[in-house]
Amino acid sequence: MAEITVAESAGFCFGVDRAVKLCYKALEEYKAVATLGPIIHNQNVVDDLIRKGARIIDNISELHENECVVIRSHGVSASVYEQLQQTGNPYVDATCPFVAKIHRIVEKHTANGDFVLIAGDAKHPEVEAIVGHCKGNCFVFESAEALNEFFQGNSRDLYKKLAIVAQTTYNILVWRKCLEVLPKDDPNIMVYDTICHATQVRQSDADKLSRKSDLMIVVGGRHSSNTVKLYHVCNRNCRSYHIENSDELHTLDLRNAEHIGITAGASTPAHIIKEVKETMTDIIENNNLEEDINFAEALDQSFRKIHNGEKVKGTVCSVNNTEAIVDVGTKHTGYVPLSELTDDSSKKPADIVSVGDELDLIVTKINDQEGIVTLSKKKVDEAKGFEEIIQAKEAGTILEGTVNAAVKGGVIITYAGVRVFIPASQSGLPRGSEMDSIVKTKQRFTILEVNEHRKRAVGSIKAVLRAEKDAAKEAFWATAEVGKVYKGEVKSLTSYGAFVDLGGIDGMVHISELSWKRIKHPSEVVNVGDYIEVYIKELDQENNRISLGYKKPEDNPWEKFKANYSVGDVIPVTIVSITPFGAFAQIIDGVDGLIHISQLADKRVENVKDIVSVGDTVDVRIIDVDIENKRISISMRALLEDSEDQDEYDADEE
Ligand code: SF4
Repeated sequence: MAEITVAESAGFCFGVDRAVKLCYKALEEYKAVATLGPIIHNQNVVDDLIRKGARIIDNISELHENECVVIRSHGVSASVYEQLQQTGNPYVDATCPFVAKIHRIVEKHTANGDFVLIAGDAKHPEVEAIVGHCKGNCFVFESAEALNEFFQGNSRDLYKKLAIVAQTTYNILVWRKCLEVLPKDDPNIMVYDTICHATQVRQSDADKLSRKSDLMIVVGGRHSSNTVKLYHVCNRNCRSYHIENSDELHTLDLRNAEHIGITAGASTPAHIIKEVKETMTDIIENNNLEEDINFAEALDQSFRKIHNGEKVKGTVCSVNNTEAIVDVGTKHTGYVPLSELTDDSSKKPADIVSVGDELDLIVTKINDQEGIVTLSKKKVDEAKGFEEIIQAKEAGTILEGTVNAAVKGGVIITYAGVRVFIPASQSGLPRGSEMDSIVKTKQRFTILEVNEHRKRAVGSIKAVLRAEKDAAKEAFWATAEVGKVYKGEVKSLTSYGAFVDLGGIDGMVHISELSWKRIKHPSEVVNVGDYIEVYIKELDQENNRISLGYKKPEDNPWEKFKANYSVGDVIPVTIVSITPFGAFAQIIDGVDGLIHISQLADKRVENVKDIVSVGDTVDVRIIDVDIENKRISISMRALLEDSEDQDEYDADEE
């Protein structure tokens, strides 16, 4: 029975899921509902919404009175909201929050008179909507070349202050090229990486699953560009089919597959994915999928001639310490020596192949007299691997491999038989680090360059780390709000505060926010590596600044003092510092009072140290409290005067 696995990120992304749910909710709440364009690229979902009463319109003028309109995840331009205000129709805004964020950015910059550059497809509804939120100059471009032409063809006066954003589904590699085109001498350019990483993650998961599968089923609308892209990603790794729903499974050849993977585009609802999985299980269980072997054909095949350089399939019959022996379907005996199985000298044939494995091989030598052919698996792997590497570069796919060795200037990862060089600057390690430290570790990387002639490639681990950091940042800013509590690790300390990792993004707790007491250095309260609970005090997304709070209001020692002490109280205190004008004494942890030099004794005092020393415990009377300015006056003299009064009173009595 074949094993069926569904890719983790298959199906709706966050924004589409939200839009569809909002649409169903609107159908429950309003008598009449229309969507401004199809809500998603999935005919099954659109049909279901229509069945439940929704209709599709192309513009606001088509709305009926009191009909509610749902704005889809791509968003709409500002003028559509104005039209809705005029018509008075209710509306549900299902614009994806990541897209709405771009609207806010371009609105703010263009309102300030800044020039906004928008990377994307000018005809895509999302980009049309972004342009529709600009209150001033903007320019849409599709490629780094087009952006370069813009700078060459326009005077600097036109774009004194620049901001740049990208369509959420813009290709990340092209985006990086575009950033290189920006004027290097302009420190005022505001760069906003607004690419949504949901698509990238889905493609990367599909890529991984299809490598482990014999067959992939990609579910999604025929016109959904992200589903078509997923199909191409899978098809280069194994036999793949693109279907819209489970009915199409009956027309497919599901035989000869032990591991079947399922993935789905961003517009495919979970119930369709579930149906596909269940239908496929039924088909596999009920049908007799055993191969109908045509013995006559097999016999003919055994007399077939074989040629040098020919690609053949071979089944492993036995494995010894130096080679694998394979049946290639002819009268020859096939040998694959260890050197043609792998480059890795630490491995034995049994580490690479097992009896029964079906291999793609290339014939390297034929000895007809002895009936022997020598074959290579490595050459096929290399060719396939290089093809994968080229595709991965084009799609920006994240690959995973083990670092084989540290070499001059970087490290080598052998991926699917291809040497990928990772320069030190792309290793993700700090400058000057020992490259050996990542040898034999698993790393995820993208391909930066390929040399088809030399069958070599250059990759980057750093690009993956940066993309992950960007995704974490994006997720953080989408949900962050003042007062929200996080648990984070203290990453570093400076004289003015502690930096805390909130999960891919750092915030700072200022030294004054660490403790209610006066401290000289953050290390008096926290240490690097500590996990602490912090809350957001202030957010400044534009400058990427997050101010955090650590000390808790309920621990405020001044509140404790207020609740427990009053003017006139006599209390013991400990001298903590001496100044020329008096001595400071601790009343409770975090609250000190001042014994002014005139309040130390009932006589004139020349030097404070003649009366008290640091560490002494003395009794004092609280004589004045100024909570607002955090000043407390305490007196030893008041107690001496009290006892003199008492002595005089006792003497008079006698
Ligand atoms: S921006 Fe990302 S999450 Fe939002 S709808 Fe587009 S793909 Fe989905």
